[in-house]
Amino acid sequence: MSAPSPAALVTGSTRGIGRAVAARLATDGYRVVLHGRADGPVAAAALGALAGTGHAFVAADLAAPDAPERLFAAAVAAAGRIDLLVNNAGIYEEAPFSAPSLAAWRAAWRRTLQVNLDAAADLAYLMVQHVRGRGGKIVQVASRAAFRGETDFPAYGVSKAGMVNLTICLARALAAERIYAYTVAPGWTATDMARASMTDEAAVLGQIPFGRMAAPEEVAAVVSFLARAEADYLTGITIDVNGASYFR
Ligand code: NAD
Repeated sequence: MSAPSPAALVTGSTRGIGRAVAARLATDGYRVVLHGRADGPVAAAALGALAGTGHAFVAADLAAPDAPERLFAAAVAAAGRIDLLVNNAGIYEEAPFSAPSLAAWRAAWRRTLQVNLDAAADLAYLMVQHVRGRGGKIVQVASRAAFRGETDFPAYGVSKAGMVNLTICLARALAAERIYAYTVAPGWTATDMARASMTDEAAVLGQIPFGRMAAPEEVAAVVSFLARAEADYLTGITIDVNGASYFR
């Protein structure tokens, strides 16, 4: 009997970059566990659009501290095993230094760090325990904001910088166990998140020599590459996908 195809858990995959990553991995032959905040027609449509068979959907609100454990257990139950974790779910929320009070500052900071970094770290921990002895991969979807210094979104920038560092720590600690970690750092990418937060599209596009945002599929292509065995030796790397809009 042939071995089952590999399985990937992609967080925040009912739309945007996560959905494109899930679609690409399904085309590459993965069974994909999609994840979103809630079940419903959007999740069903995303699931139905995946190539191949053996896919599943799990709902979990990553703002809840106990959600990563429930999500990971449900993903393993659905797919039998997880070989690739893509930490993609994230929120982009203003948390300016001019917030009206410490309480407001703290609330935005904590929400962002919980969803973008704490949940990703918990899932990475659970993934490491799950693949110990056989190897596996973790890809974090961070952002150009990890490096640039965000004036109105510092919590977001810090959360993404944390993901980059988490990748480095995972890579150094676990390469000998064939557990590999990578970061993809997109710049502006054409998704609902970008459209919702862009106040001056002409100014944003003006910073990008291409004169356009990335397509989610361009980010997904990098994840697809990193998921392959030929990228093993790159463990720890961050790949920028920002159309030459920012160099570090
Ligand atoms: P999006 O808003 O379209 O998708 C984000 C996904 O995360 C959604 O599926 C959403 O349901 C999920 N999510 C958010 N909060 C959640 C929660 N509390 N619980 C569970 N799921 C939750 O955004 P996108 O543009 O596709 O972004 C995907 C990732 O890429 C994010 O981590 C984002 O920070 C990063 N990114 C995006 C851009 C961009 O310009 N679009 C640029 C750099 C990095």
